[in-house]
Amino acid sequence: MSDDFAIIRCDTCRQLNRVSLGKLASKPICGTCKSVLDIPQEPVWAKHETFDRVLATWPETLLVEFTAASSVFSRIVDPLVSNLAREKAGKLKVIKVDIDTNAYLVERFKIEKTPTFIVYKNGVELLRVDGAPKEKTDLVKWIENIINFKSY
Ligand SMILES: [Zn+2]
Repeated sequence: MSDDFAIIRCDTCRQLNRVSLGKLASKPICGTCKSVLDIPQEPVWAKHETFDRVLATWPETLLVEFTAASSVFSRIVDPLVSNLAREKAGKLKVIKVDIDTNAYLVERFKIEKTPTFIVYKNGVELLRVDGAPKEKTDLVKWIENIINFKSY
């Protein structure tokens, strides 16, 4: 089955690595430079200095959530987002953008609602949803569809 592995780019030497999803817990290393690969299993907070680099270098599905501590809707979907990050680790990376501390990204992406979700695969934007989905489980369906969609 093709879904048994993920393509992970090494942060150190930039090489792509094919990593078995069953081996994520054993801290897989880069086949080229032997650095431990960075495969987050929970959402990561974005910094605007590194945002574009993360966007451009993560070959699998990337979910960006624009959120705010004061957002009631964000609080409703956050446990689901954290679950996705854990269950789909390797195939999915979740980046959270705190709109209160990232004015530059808020302006650039014209964010008017929290949460706003933008989903990329291999650096290409495939989906954007402004505001909480009608059913929060819709988010899971969208992400699964995009993970299973081969863009490379
Ligand atoms: Zn490497």
